[in-house]
Amino acid sequence: MTTEFTHFIGGEHVKGTSGRFADVFNPATGEVQARVPLASVAELDHAVTIAAAAQPKWAATNPQRRARVLMAFVGLLNRDMDKLAKALSREHGKTIPDAKGDVQRGLEVVEYCIGAPELLKGEYTDGAGPGIDIYSMRQALGVTAGITPFNFPAMIPMWMFAPAIACGNAFILKPSERDPSVPLMLAELLEEAGLPKGIIQVVNGDKEAVDAIIDNETIQSIGFVGSTPIAEYIYGRGCSNGKRVQCFGGAKNHMIIMPDADLDQAADALIGAGYGAAGERCMAISVAVPVGEETADRLIEKLIPRIEKLRVGPYTSGDDIDYGPVVTAAAKANILKMIEGGIAAGADLVVDGRGFKLQGYEDGFFVGPHLFDRVTPDMEIYQKEIFGPVLSCVRAASYEEALGLAMDHEMGNGTAIFTRDGDAARDFASRVNVGMIGINVPIPVPLAYHTFGGWKKSVFGDLNQHGPDAFKFYTRTKTVTSRWPSGIKQGGEFNFKAMD
Ligand code: NAD
Repeated sequence: MTTEFTHFIGGEHVKGTSGRFADVFNPATGEVQARVPLASVAELDHAVTIAAAAQPKWAATNPQRRARVLMAFVGLLNRDMDKLAKALSREHGKTIPDAKGDVQRGLEVVEYCIGAPELLKGEYTDGAGPGIDIYSMRQALGVTAGITPFNFPAMIPMWMFAPAIACGNAFILKPSERDPSVPLMLAELLEEAGLPKGIIQVVNGDKEAVDAIIDNETIQSIGFVGSTPIAEYIYGRGCSNGKRVQCFGGAKNHMIIMPDADLDQAADALIGAGYGAAGERCMAISVAVPVGEETADRLIEKLIPRIEKLRVGPYTSGDDIDYGPVVTAAAKANILKMIEGGIAAGADLVVDGRGFKLQGYEDGFFVGPHLFDRVTPDMEIYQKEIFGPVLSCVRAASYEEALGLAMDHEMGNGTAIFTRDGDAARDFASRVNVGMIGINVPIPVPLAYHTFGGWKKSVFGDLNQHGPDAFKFYTRTKTVTSRWPSGIKQGGEFNFKAMD
């Protein structure tokens, strides 16, 4: 019998009542392994009512006690790491080491949020005028919500709920309907760690639940991570409803390879950054930009044998595979359609993975690795995010042309330059209009105590994810100006008259 997931509302597993469900696949076999309920407006609103009732007490719990819950949660994540990674791989398709990385990068943000007592400390100006002091405090927003994508079902929910909870908010998570297991497990673990009921809730669903979040008047803020069209939609409608909203969208990350770069190092980096997790990462490199024809020829020569050695298979193969299937049959069909479009547009498909088949897994959503050379900026494979194991090489005649490509693209999540020239690297980092830059680092995901976020169409909103920005996003500043006319005379004698 197929497993039927629940919601996690008020500290309980609750069956869906809308009568609508989505299938959850095992991408390696193509089989439906479970179904997930899709919440109605009434179910979402019910969760919000419970959250609103529980939140004031949690906000009044001192930050150190709140941090202790997160500390205990970190212990439980480490205890259950293998279990979480297995559940994640089974629904997402990524390898077990990748799945552990997914949990680990979320866990690191939870660790950062244990610093809440320090991070929530306010500001104080003593003696701003005669007897006047000014102080600012950071207060919780109330009920907050997050909508997350399929590709990091552990990390991204933790990037949102850890700071939200640390700041004293209640949090409603609407995870991707493709891989709901891990978000539900995380909510259970938080409760085991001592989080009061109603402070974290998981409401599964699709557009109906998302729209219910946007329109619910009690919800104060929305965090979103996913594709750009949905990010733009949620940001526009959420802001016009008066909410605080931050939305992180898609990407098309360029890696510039200068003629002086160590080309073996650059080629190895492109293999990991272009094909790891089947290219289903918002920080994946999808465009290689070698500078100069000679650099391009040598790079392609080094890439081809490395790509041909990539091992593609199910997560159950353990360390013997480099990447797994993509998430759904629809995702696979879209990637293959984009590849056909690239060929038709005249790009040179130098590694063709279209015929890839895996014995025993014929119905799985596997896509072999592809490499396009001589891609040009007018092609759809260059302009759009493919989100699959497909790397495009755009040859640039000069550094300025390469920089211009990264700058003119509408996406601006991450980018990298490979070079031995400090001057070129410094110039690139300073001029490029992209949010996260790698210098000889292909996937420059900042650690938890810095912030994460792109520019241009990769983001809608002002503040980044995690790091100090998260504590700003999940709190409001209140500033008090107080005046206590001094009753103390010089010399220390108390002057009651001055107090009249
Ligand atoms: P998606 O946009 O399809 O879905 C994201 C969330 O939005 C899911 O919870 C989904 O249920 C919901 N959703 C889908 N369609 C909707 C609609 N019409 N109205 C309202 N809500 C809707 O994204 P995905 O396929 O799950 O994830 C992949 C995308 O996420 C890629 O574009 C990737 O680049 C991006 N991403 C970005 C970042 C970042 O930090 N910038 C990180 C990870 C993933």
